[in-house]
Amino acid sequence: MKYVSTRGQAPVLGFEDVLLTGLARDGGLYLPEYWPLFNQAEIAAMGGQSYEHTAMAVMRPFAGGEISDDDLLQLLTEAYRGFRHQAIAPLVQIGPSDWLLELFHGPTLAFKDIAMQVLARLMDRALKRRGRAATVVGATSGDTGGAAIEAFRGRDAVDMFILYPHGRVSDVQRRQMTTPTEGNVHAIAIDGTFDDCQNLVKALFNDLALRDRLHLAGVNSINWVRILAQIVYYFTSGVALGAPDRPISFTVPSGNFGDIFAGYAAMNMGLPVERLVIATNTNDILLRTLETGRYAAHGVTATHSPSMDIEISSNFERLLFELADRDAERVCDQMESLRAQKSFSLQSGEHAFFRQVFQAARASEDETLAEIRRLQAATGYLCDPHTAVGVSAARKVERDPNVPMVMLATAHPAKFPAAIEKATGALPAEPAIVARQRTLPERGTRLPNDYAALSAFISQHARAAGKHQ
Ligand SMILES: *Cc1c(COP(=O)(O)O)cnc(C)c1O
Repeated sequence: MKYVSTRGQAPVLGFEDVLLTGLARDGGLYLPEYWPLFNQAEIAAMGGQSYEHTAMAVMRPFAGGEISDDDLLQLLTEAYRGFRHQAIAPLVQIGPSDWLLELFHGPTLAFKDIAMQVLARLMDRALKRRGRAATVVGATSGDTGGAAIEAFRGRDAVDMFILYPHGRVSDVQRRQMTTPTEGNVHAIAIDGTFDDCQNLVKALFNDLALRDRLHLAGVNSINWVRILAQIVYYFTSGVALGAPDRPISFTVPSGNFGDIFAGYAAMNMGLPVERLVIATNTNDILLRTLETGRYAAHGVTATHSPSMDIEISSNFERLLFELADRDAERVCDQMESLRAQKSFSLQSGEHAFFRQVFQAARASEDETLAEIRRLQAATGYLCDPHTAVGVSAARKVERDPNVPMVMLATAHPAKFPAAIEKATGALPAEPAIVARQRTLPERGTRLPNDYAALSAFISQHARAAGKHQ
């Protein structure tokens, strides 16, 4: 399998190069040259398989023979060994055709672990094979950072620098980033928003001299392999609920558009997906784009679901490429308009295609808290605020009652105790791992929203520059 950039100017790469590259050199995002298609029998055969086996089946065509089946299966088995549920991503029924897909049984209690544990092992393997080191940089609105640091801590071949918006992540999220003691992981609080952090990371990648000197690699969902590992649970849940013979809809609490794009990929690979519902909090740029055909940024506000407080939704570029029938020049024009005017428009055909596959609904802050209470009262199930945004959205959209709706439960409620207490009047039970982190000393760095300060800090602390050329 070869990979192409959404902006058409970067080299075409194979799987391992895409894995180690992250953002393409032309500023675009990599996508597979075509979508591998599973037939009905192949999808049906996923029923009754373990999560790891289905993951191997789904990921294999994308690896293009660069990793053997045995190695891939072993790597996946190790990646998911520490998960607290044997199914890895179990379904929980909350209504006649309503299901939650629990994605938070990994070490940092959010769905990011599912992909990050795989990505860290694949990167480590690739770097060792090449006898070199890398500097991994990433921006987090909260959950990616903890998942990344947890997956990469102590790995020899990688130094990791994670940027998060100071004061805008929960205490649990911050401690997951600041309590690991390994010298190869660095948590950096930036005085700014998540979008500022993301722009700083993009600036590092666009600084080609620094990028080459430090062997920069990315683990944000701009990295294709993150999306790839997330395609798997659309198949496992879809097949459990009757695919390929029955269509399934999914509702996805969305921010950077990575998770729901994985659902779009699954659909292109043959999974019968009826609808993909984009659930947003009050940072509703994706919903406004779906409604109006115009993507227009006006600033981010902090909410109870901070991992979705995003305005420049970087994976949306992957969908734009698809909506434009893979016309990279068209994507370049839209991205230039976004840079210069903070907005761009979809053409009517693009807008129609977007609306044909996706729906969107928004939950306000009050609706999010009310949904946590309502679901608990109705079913006894306590969900986190991101999941609540999804459940609330799924209740708002028009749907066919015969099509099962899978709502992605993206985080454990204990990760957001303040919101849970505000909603229900009681704190959620604290998993042992969270209680333990509370007692550990924190370590980290605080920097202004300034590229020069950041690049100096990273150059000083990254080993890849000097030690392992
Ligand atoms: C990252 C995250 C999201 C948003 O996922 P995207 O891929 O950025 O759209 C939603 N919920 C939680 C808990 C997350 O950590």
